[in-house]
Amino acid sequence: MIIEIEGNQPESLRIITELAEKYGNSIEQIHGRGPVDTLHVIGDPKDLAQHTEYLETLPGVGRVWRISSSYKNIGRRVSSEGQRSVKRESRVVEVSGPDGKIRRIGAGPCVFVVGPDSAQSEQQVFEAARLIAELADRLNIRDRVMLRAGAYKPRTRPTDFRGLGMEGIEILDRVRDETGLPYVSEVMDHTLVEELAGHLDCFQIGTRNAQDFKLLETVGDTGKPVILKRGFGNDAAEWFNAAEYVANRGNLDILLCERGVKTMFCGKGYNRFTPDLNVITYAQEQTVLPVIYDPSHAAGDDRLVVANMLSALPYRPAALLVETIHRESFRSQQLCDAKQALAMGPLENAIQAVLAFEEEVLPHLQSADHYFQNRPLI
Ligand code: PEP
Ligand code: MN
Repeated sequence: MIIEIEGNQPESLRIITELAEKYGNSIEQIHGRGPVDTLHVIGDPKDLAQHTEYLETLPGVGRVWRISSSYKNIGRRVSSEGQRSVKRESRVVEVSGPDGKIRRIGAGPCVFVVGPDSAQSEQQVFEAARLIAELADRLNIRDRVMLRAGAYKPRTRPTDFRGLGMEGIEILDRVRDETGLPYVSEVMDHTLVEELAGHLDCFQIGTRNAQDFKLLETVGDTGKPVILKRGFGNDAAEWFNAAEYVANRGNLDILLCERGVKTMFCGKGYNRFTPDLNVITYAQEQTVLPVIYDPSHAAGDDRLVVANMLSALPYRPAALLVETIHRESFRSQQLCDAKQALAMGPLENAIQAVLAFEEEVLPHLQSADHYFQNRPLI
């Protein structure tokens, strides 16, 4: 923690020093050449930092910077005993299915989380899942494919279809038994977490609940993997701190999911949300968690989904979460996100492109990475 203070404010300096000492910290004053000095807080500033806003009210105090991150469980860099910075290894999140295959997210090859926006009927989910399983087998990537479908749907208008609830989850259970594919589904209410934990293989916390702290903690308590979408108005630190609420409960099986943010350019007929691809790299650097990407909600239009999906590949998302439709004739019946649902043909094209990318392009990118990691200093 660093505090900017005018040099002629001994009373403010005394108050800050006393408060810091109360919490076991000490203050080192660096005299600047101008009228402003900086105070460096030595020791863990966690308690003193709770008074940041008060400190900013003291006469002569300018800005107060909190340097250490508040997401210690998921942070990439931690300080060791000798106060040296240590880089932690990336985390791999495993989700296994009744087919005996383990999906290892963050282990290298990109995993595909695909399926309809929501479960609407037994027949629809079965048809979709069979086609997805068949595609996974044909491309020999079953251990890289998971199913998704919402049973509890967050909707802007309360009169819109809000999911089948437990009936949808029971359909997904049966579909998993038949196809062997594990599934992801959204939870919105902390009172349902325990019950849902007995069914689904991976939770999803959606963009609208990304800062529901009670929900985050309750999901953390289950120890089950969770996809945490970035709140569409959240900056990266807010997103990481949300993940820290899960991690604080001892659950590090968190997949950070970028899904587009709200900007002044949204909803202009070409942009449902604005994909923030650079944040994928930043999240990979700042945290140990696998970072995944959802091109569907970022695009909002099936004609853009493939381009959105492939444009994210150089950022190396650990998984792609894609909304699909099992047959074109169902689009007229689909009750949520019908415009962005990708048909099975283009889905297969896009997956083939990802596999080709991994084979042909990735090695070149890895060579470029090597340069940045060993950049000459002069
Ligand atoms: C979804 O995955 O269907 C969904 C509602 O996502 P988001 O929370 O990103 O809008
Ligand atoms: Mn959706």
